[in-house]
Amino acid sequence: KPIVIAIDGHSSTGKSTVAKKLAKELKYKYVDTGAMYRAVTLFAMRNNWLQNGEVNESKLVENLSSIEINFEYNPEAGTNDVILNGENVEDEIRAMEVSENVSSVAKIDEVRKKLVQIQKQLGDDKGVVMDGRDIGTVVFPEAELKIFMTASADIRAQRRYKELKEKGEDLTFEEVLKNVRHRDEVDSNRENSPLVKAKDAIKIDNSHMSQEEQFETILNLAKE
Ligand code: C5P
Repeated sequence: KPIVIAIDGHSSTGKSTVAKKLAKELKYKYVDTGAMYRAVTLFAMRNNWLQNGEVNESKLVENLSSIEINFEYNPEAGTNDVILNGENVEDEIRAMEVSENVSSVAKIDEVRKKLVQIQKQLGDDKGVVMDGRDIGTVVFPEAELKIFMTASADIRAQRRYKELKEKGEDLTFEEVLKNVRHRDEVDSNRENSPLVKAKDAIKIDNSHMSQEEQFETILNLAKE
């Protein structure tokens, strides 16, 4: 019987890597909710409603109804690309500038409300692996399997640094570490924080786990 698998946790813990693998193995739909917050951030950036880390909240909220977010299967990548108002923005939303601003956009209640509503619809027919921060708490509190992934900030920054280097971004490790710490702080230190472990979520610290080990661990839990 198809279930909902919610994978929450800190940034750069490899949530999406393991979530994609699980979805493929189980023939489930994969939904990257971080990509949706990134797409809204890109939309704000393009409209110049984001400057020096400050969001023009009223402008963005006022125009939320003109943001349409979809996913489209990318056969080459074997996963879903994010489509913002008809345009494939999968690459653009991974840029450092988006990463630096996304937490400020994600803390706007109206933004969360809109995206959570879309996420609920995407998981309606079960058989879904969804990764994010608040999937097990807010989007699918009834999810049959909830995972909370974590790893030390240093290890997460190392992973992210390697990824960004491979993409040709010109950054120092310190800058990446700073961004990881900043996002942790904004994501967890405010009222209504999305980053809280659901009581019934299973915590996995993958600081010293291989991708294969993480995959096997969660797959076994899904089969229980
Ligand atoms: O998962 P990813 O690192 O791409 O997410 C980018 C940002 O989007 C997070 O740092 C967080 O601020 C926000 N986010 C969120 N709720 C989610 C998913 C992501 O607030 N469900």
